Amino acid sequence: MTTPLPIVDVREQMPNYEAYKDWQRPGEVLGIAVHHSATADKTTGEPVGDAFTFFEYQVNGRGWVHGGYNYVIPADGTIQYALDEKIAAYHAGFKDPTDSLGLEQGQYWNNHYLAVCLSGWFSDDRTWQDEAGVHPIPNRYTHPTPAQWESLLALLRHLMAKYNIPPENVRAHRELTGNATQCPGLNLDPVRLRELLRQSPPAPPPTAAEPSPGEHVLLVPDTADYLTAALGYIWKFRPDVSFAPQTAAGRWRYVTAAGDVPADLLAEYRRRGAIRVEHIPGDAETVRRQLDARVAQNRPFLDGEGEPFTRYTVQPGDTLSKIALRFYGQAQLWTRIFEANRDILTDPARIEVGQVLKIPPPPAD
Ligand SMILES: [Zn+2]
Repeated sequence: MTTPLPIVDVREQMPNYEAYKDWQRPGEVLGIAVHHSATADKTTGEPVGDAFTFFEYQVNGRGWVHGGYNYVIPADGTIQYALDEKIAAYHAGFKDPTDSLGLEQGQYWNNHYLAVCLSGWFSDDRTWQDEAGVHPIPNRYTHPTPAQWESLLALLRHLMAKYNIPPENVRAHRELTGNATQCPGLNLDPVRLRELLRQSPPAPPPTAAEPSPGEHVLLVPDTADYLTAALGYIWKFRPDVSFAPQTAAGRWRYVTAAGDVPADLLAEYRRRGAIRVEHIPGDAETVRRQLDARVAQNRPFLDGEGEPFTRYTVQPGDTLSKIALRFYGQAQLWTRIFEANRDILTDPARIEVGQVLKIPPPPAD
C-alpha cells in the first residue's frame, strides 16, 4: 500500500513555459540529483521560496530558458512538479568543451539525472552579503523540515521505481563529478539518504476499523454502578448506549457488550451484520478497568489479529465443541477457536471457566 504523493502540477504555470514545453532530454533518465535552493530568511534562517520564485529568478533574473528543477519541495512538504521529466535539467552542468571527463561535455548529469530541489539552505554558519559587509544568518532551520524529508523520500522512491534507478544513482549535487558546490547543504547526508532508500518503506500504521457515529453501541446492564463504570468510555468514544442487549442485534456494526450477556446473543449480533463484537464480562469494577484501559490506549477496541472477533468468557460445562456449535452452528469447527487461542490454550480438552477466548468470525462460505 502506498500513500499518494502530495504532488501539485505547476509545469504550465512556470515562466516561459511555451518556449521549452516540447523539449526532450537527450537520452534516458539514469539517476536523480538532490539540490537545495540555498535560500533562507536572513533574519530567521527559515527556508524560503518555491518553484514559482526559483523559476522566476532563473528565467527572468538570470536569463535561463527554464528553472532547471523537475521537482521542487517547499518547506511544507508539497511536491511541485515544475519541469516535465522528459526535459533535461539545469544546475549540474560544468564546462568541459573537449569532453575530457567523458561526461557529454559536462552535461551528463543534466541530461540523465532528474533534478529535485528542496527549498532551504541546509548548512550551518550561513551568511549573506551587502555593501556593508558579510552578515550571519542564525543557525536555525538548517535541516529539511520533517514534511520535506518525508516527501523527498516518497518522491525518490516513486521515481526510482518508475525509471528503475538504483539507490547509488540518487546523489547529492555535490557528489556529481565536475561540480564544485556544497549543494544540497552539508547537513543533508546523501549516504544516510541512500541507506534509507535501500530499506523498504516503513509500513503504514495498522488502521483498525473504527466505527463512525451511530455504528457503535455499548450495551451495559441497567444499573447505576455499570453505567458509572462506563462513563469514561462513553465520554471518550461516544457510542450509542443501550440497556437492552436482546434488541440490539442488526442495529449496530460495532458492539461492545459489558457484563453478563449470553453467548448466543453475541453470536446473534454477528449473524445479523455486526463486524466487531467485543464482550467485557464481569462485575462493574472489572468492566470499569477494561473500559478505562481502552480509553487510555485511545482505542475503542482491543487489538485483535487484524480481524474482528468476539470475546467469549468460558462458562461452566463449556467445551470447545459446544462453543463452536453455539457460534458457528457446527461443533467440528472447534479447531478454529482452538487455533485462534493457542496463546492461552495448549490442550483443546482443557479450557477453564472464566478464560476469555477469541472467537474468530465464521468461515467464509
Ligand atoms: Zn544544487
